[in-house]
Amino acid sequence: MASLDIHLFPCLSDNYGVLIHDAENNVTASIDAPEASAVKKALAEKGWTLTHILTTHYHADHTDGNMELKGETGCIIVGPKNEADRVPGIDVQVGDGDSYEFGAFTAKVFDTPGHTAGHITYWFPQANVAFAGDTLFTLGCGRLFEGTAETMWTSLSKIKALPPETVIYSGHEYTQSNAGFALTVEPGNAALQARAKEISDMRSRGEPTVPTTLVRELETNPFLRPDSPEIQTNLGMEGRELWEVFGEVRRRKDNA
Ligand code: ZN
Ligand code: FE
Repeated sequence: MASLDIHLFPCLSDNYGVLIHDAENNVTASIDAPEASAVKKALAEKGWTLTHILTTHYHADHTDGNMELKGETGCIIVGPKNEADRVPGIDVQVGDGDSYEFGAFTAKVFDTPGHTAGHITYWFPQANVAFAGDTLFTLGCGRLFEGTAETMWTSLSKIKALPPETVIYSGHEYTQSNAGFALTVEPGNAALQARAKEISDMRSRGEPTVPTTLVRELETNPFLRPDSPEIQTNLGMEGRELWEVFGEVRRRKDNA
């Protein structure tokens, strides 16, 4: 069984770049391309040659490196069908239900709109990992720039339905502020209290809080927990639709 090597590195002010590598098949993908220079440095450190870019959404902090990297390596750029016209250099358009073969691995693609209208998530079931871009963050979720709360809740529900042990990579290090906000909506969640402390310790040591696992997010991420009685009570929204409760959590974070 081939193994998928994964290398995470910080770039820009608070983005993460990620390289994935299948040594047996000699393929390397950059998950998004926030900054060409940082991606090239990471490739050189690992001794890997770029063959693909897997784009989650068109925002500049996820695609600014596309053309430079493609020009230098001839890599194939895969990206979201529903916003393909906004992804520089896109070669292969993928959307909900599509599979993309990467070396020995299959990426299953989900449409996860809300942050942008065409945002996609890549799930590699054989490697037990998903790349969620700016849809789900550690203890947070993306801002609703191009979708309603109902749209984003549907997207997050697809991620929620993945196997709980799935390892989830996201595009940014926002976790410290997310943890502070999460405690304001669900202060009685003991797992969240413990995790907030752990996150403070990790950040003070300069450690990334990405990746996370789905099971930890299910236990502590308020954006995945609109069914929590404590959250519903704190928001005065007992018994309301889950997407409505989610939407109120998102609104409060926007105004926090
Ligand atoms: Zn974004
Ligand atoms: Fe971003």
